[in-house]
Amino acid sequence: MGWSAGVMENGMAREQKMSLQSLTLTEARSAVVEGRVSAVALAQQHFERIAELDGEIHSFLTLTRERALAQAEKVDAAARAGEALGPLAGVPVGIKDVLTTRGVETTAGSKILSGYHPPYDATAVARLEAAGAVVLGKLNCDEFAMGSSNENSAYGPVKNPRAMDRVPGGSSGGSAAAVAAGLCVASLGTDTGGSIRQPAAFCGVVGVLPTYGRVSRYGLIAFASSLDRVGPFARSVEDAATVLEVMAGPDELDATASPQRVADYAAETRKGVEGLRIGVPEEYFGEGLHGEIRAAIETVLDGLRSSGCSLHKVSLPHTRYAVPTYYVLATAEASSNLSRYDGVRYGLRSKDAATLASMFRNTRDEGFGAEVKRRILLGTYVLSAGYYDAYYKKAQQVRSLLARDFVQAFADVDAIVAPVTPTPAFKLGEKTSDPLQMYLEDIYTVSASLAGICGMSVPCGETSDGLPIGVQVLGKYFDEETMLRVGAGVERNQKG
Ligand code: GLN
Repeated sequence: MGWSAGVMENGMAREQKMSLQSLTLTEARSAVVEGRVSAVALAQQHFERIAELDGEIHSFLTLTRERALAQAEKVDAAARAGEALGPLAGVPVGIKDVLTTRGVETTAGSKILSGYHPPYDATAVARLEAAGAVVLGKLNCDEFAMGSSNENSAYGPVKNPRAMDRVPGGSSGGSAAAVAAGLCVASLGTDTGGSIRQPAAFCGVVGVLPTYGRVSRYGLIAFASSLDRVGPFARSVEDAATVLEVMAGPDELDATASPQRVADYAAETRKGVEGLRIGVPEEYFGEGLHGEIRAAIETVLDGLRSSGCSLHKVSLPHTRYAVPTYYVLATAEASSNLSRYDGVRYGLRSKDAATLASMFRNTRDEGFGAEVKRRILLGTYVLSAGYYDAYYKKAQQVRSLLARDFVQAFADVDAIVAPVTPTPAFKLGEKTSDPLQMYLEDIYTVSASLAGICGMSVPCGETSDGLPIGVQVLGKYFDEETMLRVGAGVERNQKG
C-alpha cells in the first residue's frame, strides 16, 4: 500500500502523508480523486522529498514549482466541483530536459542551450498536463541524449539511488533515478538506442520504448530523428501503460506520428499471458552477459512458461552488426541535427568573437561537450562525399537486415524476451575514459531501435550485491498491447 493511514487532528482530516517511494500512479490518482490527499499537498510532499534527497542524486535540473502548484490547484478545484478527472489527475511527474516546456529553461543537458526558454510545449508534455499530470520539473540527462551513464551531462552526473557510487544509466538517467527515488511518480524519457530501457534496468523501474511513430516527437530536441522516441518511466507496468496511452496517437504537428489505433493499454496489462508464444534470441545470451543477469532472465522465462506461455528459440542473425550500424547512423543524423546550434538562434552565444565565423566556431567550441563533438566529427565523416557509400549507405543497408531479422522472428512468436544490458549498473567514472566500452553497453538495445519495434524493461530481481536487474520485452510494430501483457506477466511473477 502506498500511503499510511489517514491522520485526524482536532477532528479534522489532515492531508494524508503518502509513502512516496513506492506510491504507484494508480494509487496517487485515486487518493486525489477520492479526496484523501489534495493534488497540491501531494506536489508539496514531493518537493520536500526532492529538497531532502536530490542534492545528492541530482536528477532534477530545474524545478517548476509555480507551474506545478497552479496545475495542482486546478485539479483540486475540478475534484471539489465533482468534475470528471483525467487519467493522470494530480500525478506528480518529471520531464527529461530534451522535451520542450513553454517558458521553462530546456537545455538538453548541454551548455549550448543554457538560458533557452522554448515558446512551446512538446506534444507529450502537453498531453500529460491535459490529462491532469503535475509537472514538477525538468530532469537531468546526457548532453543531447548521447550517452549510457548520464556522465555526459554538462550539469554533472546523476547518481543511482539504489547504489550511490554507481551510474543510473543514460541518457535518461535523471528520469529513471527520480522515479526510483520517489521524487516523482512517473517521468518521461527518450530512447534513441536504449536510453529508456537501460536506465530503467539500472535503477529498478519500468521503462517503455513505444514503436517508432507511436508518440509524437514534436518538441523533442532532435538527436537522431529516425531513431528518437519518447516514452514513460514508472513503478509498475500498468502505470507505464497509462502514461503511454495518454501520450500516444497522431499529432498534426508531427507527420511521423502514426494514426494507428491506440488501445486501452492499462486494460491489456490485466489480461494474462496464457497461450502467448515467447521468442528467445540465442544471439542475446552469448559471451559477455553477466552471470546473474543470465540467471535472472532464465527465471523470468521459467515463470512465463508456468504462466502458460510457450518458449521458442529465435534467431536474429545480424545482431553483431547492430552497435557499429547504430553509431554510424546516429552520429550521421546528429551531425546534421546539431548544425542548428550556431549562437544565433538558441541559448549560448560566445562572448569573445571578432567575426561572424569565429562567433559560430567559438559558440560551438564552448557550448558542446567532448562526446557531442566526437559524434559530430564521426557523423560528418561518415556522410562526407568520399565515405558516404562505405559507411552511411552500408549502415542503412544493414539497418534493413536488422529490421528483417525481427519481422522473420515475429512471424513465429508474439513477443521476444532478452536481457537489457550485459552488466548491472557500473561505477561512476568506470567507463568514461573508453568510449568504445561505453558504446558496447548498448549491445542489446540498439537493434530494436534501428528496427523501429517497441520494447520495454521490467525489473526482475537483483544481483547478490543488491543491484537491480531488468528484463527486456520486445514487441511487433504497433503491438504495445502484447508487449505490455508480457511485461505485466513478468511483474506478477516477481511479486508472486
Ligand atoms: N547510449 C546510446 C548513445 O549513446 C543511446 C542513447 C539514447 O538512446 N539516447 O547513443
